[in-house]
Amino acid sequence: MSELRSLYQEIILDHNKNPRNFKKLENADRVVEGYNPLCGDHYTIYLKLKDDRIEEITFDGGGCAISKASASVMSSILKGKTKAEAEELFETFHKLVIGELKGLDSMDELGKLAAFSGVSEFPARVKCASLAWHTMKSALESDKKVVSTE
Ligand code: ZN
Repeated sequence: MSELRSLYQEIILDHNKNPRNFKKLENADRVVEGYNPLCGDHYTIYLKLKDDRIEEITFDGGGCAISKASASVMSSILKGKTKAEAEELFETFHKLVIGELKGLDSMDELGKLAAFSGVSEFPARVKCASLAWHTMKSALESDKKVVSTE
């Protein structure tokens, strides 16, 4: 388990240091800002949709390592997914970070999302990890401009 833990930490450190899809998307269809006032995390999620699919997803902004790594992993996973798939992944990720998802089989299926499984032990960090996801979900649903975790 400790090897797995250090692998998870590496994924988070790597995505924090070199965030993927970290840029403004000029021709985005949806632009939604997300705030987590408890920690000061603040990101903007940009979505380009084609029919029912996420053609492009990028983000910018800043915050703690967990929030940035989470936004980065999310953006790399959701590119090319349908809205329904993205919502399903949102549910899975949410269960993971609040500690309701257990068992190694599902951890395998989670891929890089599993790196955030340790977050459930730190309730104050759950909002950091899920901020980008809440913002993305809101962007899928509507063109609402600002989302706050409060
Ligand atoms: Zn944070």
